[in-house]
Formats: sequence, C-alpha cells, structure tokens
Amino acid sequence: MKVLSITTAILAACLVAPAIAQEGAVAGGTQTASAYSCDPNTCKLPNCLCASTSPPGGLQPKDTPQFVVVTFDDSIQAKLVETAHDMLNVKNPNGCSAKGSWYVSMEYTDFSLVQQWYANGHEVADHTFSHVGSPSSQEIAAAKSMLHEYAGIPYGKLSGFRAPFLNYTADTLTNIQKQGFKYDTSSTATVDDCYWPYTLDNGMANDCWTGICDAGKVKLPGVWEVPMYAVMDNANTPQLMDVYLAGSVADVTSWSNANFERHYNGNRQPFGIYVHPTHLTNFPGTPDASALKNSVVSLIKSLAGKPDVWFVTNQQLLQWMQNPVPASQLASQSYMQCNVPNTGKEICNGLENITISADGVASGALLQSCNLNNTNWHTCFNCPNAAPSLENPVPAAALQSSDPNYRKPVPDNCDSIWWDPVAGQCLCTESSCAYKDTAVPTTNNGTNGTNGNGSSSPDGKPSSGANTMTPIYGIILSSVAAGLAGLLL
Ligand SMILES: [Zn+2]
Repeated sequence: MKVLSITTAILAACLVAPAIAQEGAVAGGTQTASAYSCDPNTCKLPNCLCASTSPPGGLQPKDTPQFVVVTFDDSIQAKLVETAHDMLNVKNPNGCSAKGSWYVSMEYTDFSLVQQWYANGHEVADHTFSHVGSPSSQEIAAAKSMLHEYAGIPYGKLSGFRAPFLNYTADTLTNIQKQGFKYDTSSTATVDDCYWPYTLDNGMANDCWTGICDAGKVKLPGVWEVPMYAVMDNANTPQLMDVYLAGSVADVTSWSNANFERHYNGNRQPFGIYVHPTHLTNFPGTPDASALKNSVVSLIKSLAGKPDVWFVTNQQLLQWMQNPVPASQLASQSYMQCNVPNTGKEICNGLENITISADGVASGALLQSCNLNNTNWHTCFNCPNAAPSLENPVPAAALQSSDPNYRKPVPDNCDSIWWDPVAGQCLCTESSCAYKDTAVPTTNNGTNGTNGNGSSSPDGKPSSGANTMTPIYGIILSSVAAGLAGLLL
C-alpha cells in the first residue's frame, strides 16, 4: 500500500514538473522533461543504448515482439509460489510456458523454493536483506550472498535489482554497479517517458522529477534501467504495482487493457504486471483473495491470446534488447528455449519432486531443514549454524564437511540445475549446458572481493570451489582462482 502512495507522489510531482524540451538527444524523436541527453551515434548496442520510445535496432513496431514482464516482489513461500504459477499458466508462441522475475527479500523466504523457481526457468533477483528503502550496499550484498549460498543461484544469474518501496537513490544505482548487477528496475515510466530499457551510460531518463536525471548525477556505463510501465487510470494517475488494488475489477481490467493497447498498437514498449503475490493468496484469517487473483489471471490469459505476445523475465528482455531480432525469429533464440535438464539421476537441483505439505511447507527427501530462532526454511545446501543477519548473512555451515549429509556448494563452473550437491558433481557433459560464472562475489560490505562467507566456510567456497569439486564437464579455466576476483567489475 505504501507503493500506491509513492505513485501518487510521483503523479503530483509529474503534474508540476516543468516540461523542458531539449534538442534531439533522445532517440526516437521524443521530448523529455529532463536533463537527459544521449547521442545514439556513439551509444550503440550491445552495451549502450539511449532511452527511446522506439524499438531498438531500428525495428518497426509491427515486427517487434510485444513483451510482457510479470514480476513478483518480496519473500518466496510455498503459497506465494502457487499463486505465481497460477498467474504464469500460459504459453509463449514457441510453446514454452510463461516466465517471470521475482525480486526476493530474505525474511520468510524458503530457499528451496527459490531454487525451484530458478530451476524452472524463472528469474531470481535481489530485493535486499531486510526490505528497506534507500538500501545500503550491505543490504544489497547480503541478499545476493544468501540467494547464492542457500538457493544455489550462480552469481552471474543474480543480475537484477529492485529497491524496496521503489525507493532508490543515485547511491543505490552506484552500489548495484559496484556489485556487478546488470540492471535496476525501480523507476517509473508513464506516457511521455515510456522508454524501452536503456543503459545508464548517459544517466537516468525516468523519475526525472526527483532530480535523478540531472547531469552528472548518475552515469553508470553498461548498467541497464528497465523502467516499470505504469497503467494510467481513468483519472490519468499512474498505477504501478498491485494495480488490482486501485479500483474495481471492471475498472482495473479496462485501464489495463487500454494501456496494453497503447503499447501493443504503438511502439510495443514492454508491458508490466507487477504484483505482491501475498495480496492474491488466501491465508487463514484473511479476506478471500480468489476474485482478485482470478482477475489478474484472466487479464494475463487475454493478453496471451494475442499475436506476438511473449511473457519473459527481465533477463530475457535484456538479452533481446542487446541483440534485437524480429518477432518472427524470437522463438529460435537460445534464451527463449525451455529444455529441462536431464541429469539422469534424482539430485537436489530444484527440479526434484518437491511437495507442499498441508502446513504449506516444502518438503523433499533431499532437502535440509533449517530451524533458526523463529525461522524455518529448507535448502539443498547446508543450513547455517546461526540465523543469518545483515552483518553475517551466510554463517558457517552447521555440519562439518566430513559429515555424510554435508552439501557441496555450487562451483563457478556449473549451473546449479546440473549440480549434485550431495555427490559434489556437475552432471553437465555437453558444451550446450556448460556454464562459467564470471561474476565476482561481493563481500558483505558490498565491495569487490571474495565472498565474505565463502572464505570463512570450511571448504573455502567459492573461490576454491573448482578445486574441491569433481565436475564431469572438464573445462576448468585456470583463471577461476580468486586472483581474478576484483578485476572483473
Ligand atoms: Zn518489496
């Protein structure tokens, strides 16, 4: 609910912000009420892109896929995942199921479900440790460490960030660049600033009323901003998150369709459906959320029925942005495939038969159950010997490495969907599934270097992971070693 008041504040500010036209700097022929300036002749794909209302790569709108990003915020719990699956129960034009992105905060999160979400082709992204606005670098780094340690997400796949309450600052964006994130998605796009995602080489072009676009304020080469696309309601107020809370089902459906058509029949900018799944989930003692959820599900189903509509993660969207292809070629792109790995054995990789018990808790024969103070969650990896905290998000493992139940962490030369944490073995045997994580772990204070946790854990993870594991896939680059850490950002 706090977010709604923020969007109201944005509206109020938008209405009073003076429109300062500026000369031809924004590609696509649009004017912007900001100091934003970018020259498309020097800022070129794949690593630089000016903010523009037009599709990238010179594509005509009619040849451009209509992307829909469905995102989920906050903790990942069993009932919330069920809601997310209900929402994404539609197919893309290539027959793969719809994918979504989850911006995960740590409290109440079950890490086995995070891994499961990732293993099924969805995106896991950072939403801080304790869900605070204007988060410190430590808040951002702690969440990243935990998502890697307990859900096995390779650092290189943890590429997205969203600020809690969408409350970000120039410092926030600078911090995510230092920590190796590829993109932020915390800003608001309304109508005039309805830009496709763009890089921050030339600063921000959204939320300019805050001063964030002023020259020199933010200049982060290579970091992408994926604006959140507002639904304008009948009072022309931008509704951003949880739009279903802003009016009756009939009204919200009407606004959503009108705004979708604005994109679909216009310049095909991505369309967003941004939810806190807790609002759409039934819990004992809370009002029945079924009607609300069904309204969102039917909106998604109606959009999925239109030609060239693709439900993608923000990561997939950015892969396309960097190398835009016509809609007719999207189905064949490697990042749009949906093959489930055939490991030949039941391993704890997120794809095992995890069941949800009556009390809403994930269970599975291979999972470890971590009971820490007031929290209780599951993981394919080791439980910590103390409750994670902001200062120490990944305490040492509860088990000694000599214990038969000890789990081997994911090394940086294996994607966790192929990793058997019990045997300590990478089951990928072909180049098509090979993975090399070149992302640099961050220390808990958010600076570059080896993982604060890993270096203190018995196995020396992750820098020595490649030495202690026994991957079948044999390519271990010598540069994996910790000596490279710190050079890659
Ligand atoms: Zn949140």
